[in-house]
Amino acid sequence: MVSSSSATETNINSPNDSNVPDGSSSRSKVGENGSKKQTNTTTTTKTTTAAMGENGAKDIKLEKGTIIFCKWRDDQYHKCEILDKRESESGTPEYYVHYHEYNRRLDEWVDDSKFDFSRIEVDSNNNKHSATATESHGGEGTANGTGAPANKKNARINKRIFDEMNNTNQKGVDEEAKLSAMEKEHEEITKVKNINVVELGRYEIDAWYFSPYPEEFAKCDKLYLCEFCLKYMKKKTTLNRHMLKCDLRHPPGNEIYRNGNISMFEIDGRHNKIYCQNLCLLSKLFLDHKTLYYDVDPFLFYVMTESDSRGCHIVGYFSKEKDSPDGYNLACILTLPPYQRKGFGKLLISFSYELSKKESKIGTPEKPLSDLGLLSYRSYWTQVILEILRKHKGNISILDISNMTSIRTEDVISTLQSLQLIRYWKGQHIISITPKALEEHLKVYSKQTTKIEPKCIHWAPLNPPAKKQRSKGW
Ligand SMILES: [Zn+2]
Repeated sequence: MVSSSSATETNINSPNDSNVPDGSSSRSKVGENGSKKQTNTTTTTKTTTAAMGENGAKDIKLEKGTIIFCKWRDDQYHKCEILDKRESESGTPEYYVHYHEYNRRLDEWVDDSKFDFSRIEVDSNNNKHSATATESHGGEGTANGTGAPANKKNARINKRIFDEMNNTNQKGVDEEAKLSAMEKEHEEITKVKNINVVELGRYEIDAWYFSPYPEEFAKCDKLYLCEFCLKYMKKKTTLNRHMLKCDLRHPPGNEIYRNGNISMFEIDGRHNKIYCQNLCLLSKLFLDHKTLYYDVDPFLFYVMTESDSRGCHIVGYFSKEKDSPDGYNLACILTLPPYQRKGFGKLLISFSYELSKKESKIGTPEKPLSDLGLLSYRSYWTQVILEILRKHKGNISILDISNMTSIRTEDVISTLQSLQLIRYWKGQHIISITPKALEEHLKVYSKQTTKIEPKCIHWAPLNPPAKKQRSKGW
C-alpha cells in the first residue's frame, strides 16, 4: 500500500519545527554541558549521563512507556516514547523510540546520549504505554497531513478478517471493541522493527516496519535476499552460493505484459506459494498494516520488473483476490523504496484497472489505503478523470466515467470532490468545470508520461465475466 509521493517524503525528511516545543532554559544547560563533553571521546556518553545524575536524573529509570525528548537526524530534540530496551553488544543500554510527530517507519534504536534528561515525562498511572500509544498515533496522522487521522485508520485495519468473522457491515459496540482489541494486538506485536536492512540485488534498503520473518532470521540486523526468488538468508556468503545455483532471472509465473524494459508477471499464490510468501514478508518491511503473509492461495500477485542484461529486477507489485465478493481489484500494493517517486506506483494502479476493464468489472482498492498509497490513487484517479473530461464533448455522468475507467463511482465522486469540481443539486451529483479550470488542473500531469500500454497486455480473466457470480458468504 505504498507508492511514490514527493509530498509525504518531504514531510518525512523535513520535520515541522513548529511541532517541537521550545527548548526550556534547563534543557539549554544540559545541551551546553553535553556538547562540551562530547567533543572528546565516545565514553563521554556515560559521563554526561552520570553528570546529569548528580542533578537528579540518576534516579530516572528509562522504562518502556517513558516519554522523553530525543535528538533526531535533524539535530533537533523531538518528543518520543520508549517502546523497548535492550543491551548493545558492548553492554550499554539501547532504547527503541517512536517519535510522536512521525510515522512509525521512523522508529529507531538509540543510546541514551541522544536523550534530553531534563525533559522527561513519567506517567503516574504506570499505564503509560496504552495511553501514550493512542495519542502518538493520532499525532502521526495529522503531522503527515495525509489520509484519515491514524486513530480512525487503525480502527479500520484488519477489515478482511473482521468481515469474515462477522459477515456483516453493521458496526455495533461489540464490533468496535473487537477491532480495537485487534488493533492493540497489532500494535503490541509489531511495535519494534526486527530487521534493519535488506540487501536486494544492487540495493541496500532500510526497513520501515516489523515483518514476521521466522524467529531465527528476525534477530538478524541485516537480511540478504535473492532478488529473483526472494529467498532470504543470514549471510552474504550463503547468498553468493545461492546465486550460483538459482536459475531464476525473473519472477516465476507468466509474463503478461512487456513494454520496453518494463514487464509484469502474474503469479498464482497457490502454484508459487514460497515465492509469494517471500514477497509478502519483504513487502511487510515497508507496509505498516498488512495482514496477509502466509495464506497466499486465494491471491494472484502481479510483479512489475525493470529489465537489463542481468535479468528482470523487481520494482513493486500488487496482489489481488482471485474472487473478491466486495469488488476489490487490488488488495495490497507496494513500490520498493529505491523505485519510489518515479511514477511506478501509478503504473501499478493503472495496470490493476486495465485488468478490471478486461474483466468488464468496476473495481476499487481494498481499504484502508496507506498514506502513500492514498496519494498515488488520488493522483491516478485525478489524472484519468480529468483526461476524460477534456476529451468528452457534451454531458457526461459519473456512471459514464465509472464505466469508461472501471473506477468505482464512490472513488470518482471523492476525487471530483477533492478537486471541488462537483456540486450536489436536487439529490444528484453534478460535475461542474470550465475548460480553463480543466487545463489548469491538467498542467500538473503533462510531464508524467509513463503509461500502461493496453495493447501490450496478454491476458484473459480466469473466470470469464458473464459465467458466474459467487455468493457473498463464500
Ligand atoms: Zn534465488
